[in-house]
Amino acid sequence: MSQKKVADNEGCKYKVESNDQVGRFLVAGKQLEAGEEILSELPFVVGPKASTYLQCLSCYTPWPPEEDSRPLCSHCGWPVCGTECENATWHNEYECKIFAEAKEKFDVEAALNDEHPNGIPHYECITPLRLLLASERDTERWNSEVKIMEAHNKLRSQQSQWKVDHVNIVEYLRKRLKLERFSEESIQTACGILEINCHEIRTSKGFLARALYPKVSIMNHSCVSNTSHSVVPGDYRVYLRTTVPVASGAELFGSYTHAMLPTLLRREHLQESKHFACACNRCADPTELGTHLSSLKCNKCDNGVVVSLDSLDPESQWKCTHCEFSTSGGAVSRVMHIIQAEMDQVEAYTAADGPDAIQVREDFMKKYKSVLHPRHALLTIPRYSLSQLYGRVEEYFLDDLPDVVLEHKAEMCRLLLQVLDKVEPGMTRSRGMVLYELHAPLLFIARTQWNAGVIDNAALKSKMTEAASILIESAKILELEPEGTPEHEISKGAREALEQLNKSMSEL
Ligand SMILES: [Zn+2]
Ligand SMILES: [Zn+2]
Ligand SMILES: [Zn+2]
Ligand SMILES: [Zn+2]
Repeated sequence: MSQKKVADNEGCKYKVESNDQVGRFLVAGKQLEAGEEILSELPFVVGPKASTYLQCLSCYTPWPPEEDSRPLCSHCGWPVCGTECENATWHNEYECKIFAEAKEKFDVEAALNDEHPNGIPHYECITPLRLLLASERDTERWNSEVKIMEAHNKLRSQQSQWKVDHVNIVEYLRKRLKLERFSEESIQTACGILEINCHEIRTSKGFLARALYPKVSIMNHSCVSNTSHSVVPGDYRVYLRTTVPVASGAELFGSYTHAMLPTLLRREHLQESKHFACACNRCADPTELGTHLSSLKCNKCDNGVVVSLDSLDPESQWKCTHCEFSTSGGAVSRVMHIIQAEMDQVEAYTAADGPDAIQVREDFMKKYKSVLHPRHALLTIPRYSLSQLYGRVEEYFLDDLPDVVLEHKAEMCRLLLQVLDKVEPGMTRSRGMVLYELHAPLLFIARTQWNAGVIDNAALKSKMTEAASILIESAKILELEPEGTPEHEISKGAREALEQLNKSMSEL
């Protein structure tokens, strides 16, 4: 994964093409294997997300970092964690100088004490300002790669956010910060470029920010993409690679939404944030390629599944496949939003919350078992979390788990793989992670059965061989993730487990 290799091959791995319908897009410049690196690039700009909580302007950690400390930048007086953060390039050489010159102090009391349901308004300007300053610092890259990015000014000017941006960003920069050298239009364009094209990134401490990758964002969206990108915490370099083989000249697709959401919520998200109505094969298929990620259970008959008659039309009726029951798209949408809000609360529990993290998810899934198809997206998302939590949470470590719970973990992984095979096929992070989670319960169950004399040496060996092949596939996928990412660390764990396993097998 060295940088040089990319630079050498980059020219022939992908090509930028364009047409009247979709503008620019990326195609494979040659036959690409699954897991092959396509390109890597540094962000043109990194910064806080739009509407965000109070945070350090450098590392995006919630601020204040400790309860009774309130570290502020010694140059500009805005929130940072300390000296290291105030001197980091993305703060120090960008807004810091502007704030200091304009003597624009940050109102700490107001930010800490007032209610900010839509985020801290003063933070809205940071990333657009950084983008505008970057356009002056790196004119060559701005002119060749960034300026031409989609901003959808015409469309956005009819939406309420445009006016909010005008007050919080355009006027703030031009009047308060005395940056009249940036026209109103160029500031709105900066906001648009960021809104349409930014990728969400995760810092090394796990906090979210956004970054602009001009090459990666040329790719069009598909709800079943054939690429995967990873960002290295630190310099936030992005690596783009294939997940499945891609023929020379075939289009490369990325995913600009959560691949596990149901069609209705995915399309809504894409429409609101990226201003387009996705009509990919998955969106157009009411069964979501047979996964039933969107399907509801019919409560008027026994085996019926309720699906949309036209999944590209949110207003379309939904109908049972077995009986006459039908309901409106609007009603389904309302129910989906209620369940999604509840799922988001449940998904906020992490391993740090201990056994509760498992309990709240199990309760949630039990509650909606009779409403949603077993593979419904809103059950699949917590199931993915559960597949990782069982074995990693206090009271639920692998050694503590009885066989029936180990079976439960393995069964969840198998269900997840059925879904992933269709919507995130090939060498994807999710698939690598689920395979890793699957190997352990299989081994633990086999060992207990062997100890109890239920299976003989040969059967144990064949189960171990199965676990080994799962581990190998998992390691091969997760090794593709850049060094420094949690998934890359897990790939090392997978290799170690494999070594152990091979040793035990040879001793059998
Ligand atoms: Zn910091
Ligand atoms: Zn500063
Ligand atoms: Zn789609
Ligand atoms: Zn029915």
